[in-house]
Amino acid sequence: PAAPVDPFRQGWLKGVYDEKPVKEVHTRFPPEPNGYLHIGHAKAITVNFGFAKSHGGICNLRFDDTNPTKEEEVYFTAIKDMVQWLGFEPHKITHSSDEFDKLYELAEELIKREKAPDEVKKGRGKLANGEHGPRSACAHWSRSVDENMELFRKMRDGGYKPGEVVLRMKQYLATKPEEYEVSEEDSAEAKREKEKLKALANNPAMWDVAAYRVTKNNHHHRTGDKWRIYPTYEFTHCICDALEDISHSLCTVEFETLRPAYNWLLDALDMKTEGSDEKGPMQREYGRLNVEGTILSKRRIAMLVEGTTVNDTVNNPASALTDELDELTLAEDGDEEPETTTEAAKAATSGPGRNIPPAVMSWDDPRLFTLVALRRRGVPPGALKKFVLDLGVTKANANTATHTLDSHIRTYLERTVPRLMLVLDPIKVTLTNLPDDYLEEREVPFDPKDKAKGTHIVPFTKTIFIDRDDFREEDDPDFFRLAPGKSVGLMNVEFPVRCTSFTKTLDTGKVDAILAEYGKEVPAGKARIHWVALSPAHHSPINAEVRVFNPLFKSQTPNSLDWKNGGYYDDLNPESLVTYPNAMVECGLEEVRRGAPWPKEEGEAMGVVDKSSVRFQGLRTAFFALDKDTTDDKVVLNRIVSLKEDTGK
Ligand code: ATP
Ligand code: MG
Ligand code: MG
Repeated sequence: PAAPVDPFRQGWLKGVYDEKPVKEVHTRFPPEPNGYLHIGHAKAITVNFGFAKSHGGICNLRFDDTNPTKEEEVYFTAIKDMVQWLGFEPHKITHSSDEFDKLYELAEELIKREKAPDEVKKGRGKLANGEHGPRSACAHWSRSVDENMELFRKMRDGGYKPGEVVLRMKQYLATKPEEYEVSEEDSAEAKREKEKLKALANNPAMWDVAAYRVTKNNHHHRTGDKWRIYPTYEFTHCICDALEDISHSLCTVEFETLRPAYNWLLDALDMKTEGSDEKGPMQREYGRLNVEGTILSKRRIAMLVEGTTVNDTVNNPASALTDELDELTLAEDGDEEPETTTEAAKAATSGPGRNIPPAVMSWDDPRLFTLVALRRRGVPPGALKKFVLDLGVTKANANTATHTLDSHIRTYLERTVPRLMLVLDPIKVTLTNLPDDYLEEREVPFDPKDKAKGTHIVPFTKTIFIDRDDFREEDDPDFFRLAPGKSVGLMNVEFPVRCTSFTKTLDTGKVDAILAEYGKEVPAGKARIHWVALSPAHHSPINAEVRVFNPLFKSQTPNSLDWKNGGYYDDLNPESLVTYPNAMVECGLEEVRRGAPWPKEEGEAMGVVDKSSVRFQGLRTAFFALDKDTTDDKVVLNRIVSLKEDTGK
């Protein structure tokens, strides 16, 4: 048989390796510890760790913690957990802040090399509408090294307020069109050089971008109060890559225009050879993964989790999270919406406040698409990795929809989890022709196609429960399940049952009990339904609360809702969480919880044990996983996905 195809050595990733086919492949996954990871990050993790692993290399988890204002301990822990959950072991866990001393030294070195003047904040010519207006080098461009050094140290020692000054890199801001205007006399080589210069001079990422800034809140979670200035993404990322000996620095496409700046700085510090990827790290960019129909923006999820008050600056997380964007740095968060938030902040200054309550329970609410939420819902990490790779790793952004993700999860679960019978909304059925102590114990495989995966005991007795959905008070020729006078088959037992009568509760008018007959004499039914049976204590069904999740919003495109005025709240789907408090699941769940002989997911086998790793297919119902709210006294199950698209169950 042909060797299995290694997805990390195909297509775009193959090209990246072929450009730099080194023996020691070193990569890194560099999240900012300023929020929970979302499904898009599963791609970044899979690509970076998977590529290195495929080449026998290593991948670091690097916390890019250069923005003290936004960092919190919980994010560090949650990010580490998610990498492990996805089945990857970082070679090392590093922090950009580990290199603050070194970075500072290199900034001084840059000044010595006359590549960095200090600057009063202005001069990139950014107009109020965000476009780039006329620009020119700042007055400090040609200041002496000594003077620059003195000012930079004054900045370091707290001599300036936040926003007052920045250290800028001396790139191509001052380049004049005359310098790259091609003339007839130019040699072919001179022309090429001028074309290169023109591209650099016209790339905003090369317009003397900031290297160091004074931050508002300068207490850093790891370095405490040691620093008052912090390096920017543009200054930090490439240097940390070089210091960690990263060979292939893989990031998302929005960083492509920043690649010349990445190379420029490393070249200026002799950490890379200009025009060559041989020495130093090589940055290459892959497309982002976007899942439509859901909310991934940190600010918006914060509004859903915490609730919000529109027209109130103090309590509005949308504005509380707004940090004045440093206009001199370019690496802004790709899918965060600074303009919208600014508008929200503006709207917040007028009119009375409107209190909007939380829309979800927490950051790991299974209706969200953060990785903690997907895990809690019971989505297997292997399904996410497969999803990422099936969509493909190329330069193009991978845009997909939640139902496509669901269908991948469904296909993955189909062959990887045990099967049990679960009744969501039970009605009691008494089989009147069976003796009171009737007991059949059937040995049923967890996977009907593979007995090697184990079996469990399914008891069958006089009292069973079926799902309300499987019964109709009035028969109908198109209905093939249980109704008065009608027969239906029962999964896992030999003979059918036929309903002889039923009763209803007086106050609710709901069917509360069915009488039926079971056996050889009962005419066959056209379908088989699932059920659970009351039985001697050790095989009794388990009571459970089942939570079924549906889309959080009625709109298919919740990102286009009115977020700044709180209009999103009016579009919430009232059915996004449907609870079945009295569900019953057969006792085989106990065996599944103890770890029936099913292959474990990689990350889970590495010791990341979470309740959500207990998953099963509820026959004819849906895929389920144990929720973290499960206690010794109460089982709570989450629906991972339905069995078919849009069953509405
Ligand atoms: P967000 O703003 O979406 O929460 P971010 O870009 O601020 O995410 P980082 O912590 O900076 O998140 O991201 C860590 C890595 O994950 C980066 O290399 C980034 O390019 C990558 N990444 C972020 N979002 C996606 C996505 N949607 N698809 C693929 N990779 C992503
Ligand atoms: Mg970011
Ligand atoms: Mg982003």
